[in-house]
Amino acid sequence: MKSFAMILALFSLSILAHPHPISAHIFPNASSIPSWLNRTKYAWDQFQNLKGCRHGDHLTGLSNLKTYLNKFGYIPNSPSNFSDLFDNVLQSALLTYQKNFNLNATGFLDDQTLAQIQLPRCGIADIINGASSMNSGSPVAHNATRFHSVSHYSFFPGRPRWPDHRRDLTYAFAPENGLTDEVKGVFTRAFARWAAVTPLTFTAVESFRAADIRIGFYAGDHGDGEPFDGVLGTLAHAFSPPSGHFHLDGDESWVVTGDLRSAPVTAIDLESVAVHEIGHLLGLGHSSVEESIMFPTITSRTRKVDLAVDDVTGIQELYGANPNGNPSPPSSTTTPPSSVQERDMSKGGAPKVLNSWWSPLVVAAVELFLMRQ
Ligand SMILES: [Zn+2]
Ligand SMILES: [Zn+2]
Repeated sequence: MKSFAMILALFSLSILAHPHPISAHIFPNASSIPSWLNRTKYAWDQFQNLKGCRHGDHLTGLSNLKTYLNKFGYIPNSPSNFSDLFDNVLQSALLTYQKNFNLNATGFLDDQTLAQIQLPRCGIADIINGASSMNSGSPVAHNATRFHSVSHYSFFPGRPRWPDHRRDLTYAFAPENGLTDEVKGVFTRAFARWAAVTPLTFTAVESFRAADIRIGFYAGDHGDGEPFDGVLGTLAHAFSPPSGHFHLDGDESWVVTGDLRSAPVTAIDLESVAVHEIGHLLGLGHSSVEESIMFPTITSRTRKVDLAVDDVTGIQELYGANPNGNPSPPSSTTTPPSSVQERDMSKGGAPKVLNSWWSPLVVAAVELFLMRQ
């Protein structure tokens, strides 16, 4: 009996040390999502009650909004619990949030701000250690026709990246998730998008423990202090180099392939989130360029997998371009070309060298965009 207790204790300890991945809700396509997963209560629905709230108001639920803004870096840790008063701290946090998300700086919970706050998003903070890692600003129209966007890519504090002698990275999947080859292929495609524009390579390996990047689906509190929150809310998080931890919320309805537009409102495109999180694994923070992969939120039922110029410029500042000048871009079935924006060179100094296929692609995309106007 004593030895049984010992084994039980060791087993419990091993669970604490290695959070247990779960069998996630992963669907081959949108139509295979069962209707019971299309719930009516989502993580941030509660904020709807706060519509129109402004400075001086006192309303139950404002403390939860402060907790949200604290999680994403907009409010510093409070010595005590947050109150339900719309105070100066909350107003200031909302103003910064609105700037980061290119919203009107109203300082209150107007409709657009509330809608943005409720969108599903990445669990990594926009502001880390009090320093804004998300450069705010809006795209600017020039000459009434050409749209320019300043660069808004960002890095983690201290600009951590994989060191020079680690350019060929390996990745593996938590064996307990039992992912199919089709699901693993989604991540392979996501890695390829970053490999195409950097000197980095990514190779799948069997050993989860030995891999540089470890991918797993988890639910709720999974032992790293960053619990997931059920359906929608935060979707995934990945840590800065050289951590390699890449966690996805197993409670989401992950879709592997196909059109999501007629899917249930909870459907999340797996590859879109994977491309974003890999950006974090390589050292990118969030960007305020809405078209960029590193923008913190994603609308459900949306596929967004192409790197924008902002992403490519940011990652090449850390690692340089792909020396082989990959002749063909990663395959894509998604983002319309009009979302590709030019970099405003007047803000960012000398232009960065882009891949051989990339620059013509951008030019073609911008021309197509202009033709549509
Ligand atoms: Zn993120
Ligand atoms: Zn985690």
